[in-house]
Amino acid sequence: MLRFATLASSSKGNASVICSESTTLMVDAGISCLRIRKGLEQLGLHTKQLNGILFTHEHGDHCNGLGQLAKREQLQIYCTRHTASDLRAKAPSANFCYIEPSLSCMIGDINVTCFTSSHDACDPVGYLFESGGVRFGYLTDTGRILAEMRRLLKGIDGIYLESNYDPNCLQNSQRDYRLIQRIASNWGHLSNQQAADFIREIADDKMQHIILGHLSQDCNRPELALACMQGAITELELSSQLQCAPTAHPMPWLNIKP
Ligand SMILES: [Zn+2]
Ligand SMILES: [Zn+2]
Repeated sequence: MLRFATLASSSKGNASVICSESTTLMVDAGISCLRIRKGLEQLGLHTKQLNGILFTHEHGDHCNGLGQLAKREQLQIYCTRHTASDLRAKAPSANFCYIEPSLSCMIGDINVTCFTSSHDACDPVGYLFESGGVRFGYLTDTGRILAEMRRLLKGIDGIYLESNYDPNCLQNSQRDYRLIQRIASNWGHLSNQQAADFIREIADDKMQHIILGHLSQDCNRPELALACMQGAITELELSSQLQCAPTAHPMPWLNIKP
C-alpha cells in the first residue's frame, strides 16, 4: 500500500508526502520550514522520519522551505543534476543524489521513476512511485502532456495531477498579458481541460484516487476543476475518488491499495 497526502498545493507553495510500509518521502518543499514541520506533525510524522525529499524543479513555490529545513536537518535530496545546481546553494550541507529522467531508482522500498515535464524551469520532472504492487503518479507544473507521461502513467492506481487554470478565468484575469501567455503555453501549466483529457488517456478501473493540485487562486475555482474532471470520470465509468488538494493546509492521508 502507498499513502499520500499534500501539505500545501497552489502557486504559493507546494509540498506532499508519500509513504510505503517502511519509507517516507516528501515531494517538493515550497512552504516554510515551520509549516512543513507542523503539517507533518498533523499527519503523524516528524521531519527526522523523511528518507528523502524529491524535487520536481527549482521554482520558489516548490523549494522555498528548503534552506531553513536544511539548516535544521541532515537531508537527503533527490533531483536532477541541473536542478541540483540551483538547489545546492539553498542547502549546502544536504546530501544530493542525482536522478535522471526515464531512469528508476529504489529509495527504501519505493521504486521511483522520474520523467521530463514541459515547464519553464531548468530540468523539470514528474514522478512515478511504485511499491507493493501499487503505482502512483505525481505530475505538476507542465504545459503539455508528453508521450512518456502517457506511457509511464497508463493504468496507475492513483495520481496527484495539476489542474491549474480555467481558460476563461485566465483570459479575464487581471494578470499581465505576458504572464497569461506563459501560463497557457506549452511550458506553463495544465488547464482543467488538459488534466481531464490526460485522465481520459491513462485511467482505467484501477484508478482509485485523483487529487487535483496547484489550482490557481486567481484563474481557477475548485468547482470548475472538479466538474471538468468529473466529466472524464463519468465518461470512463470509473469509481475513482476525486478531490482538490487544499491550498494551504494538509489533506488527510489517502490510502492507495493494491
Ligand atoms: Zn509551481
Ligand atoms: Zn513551476
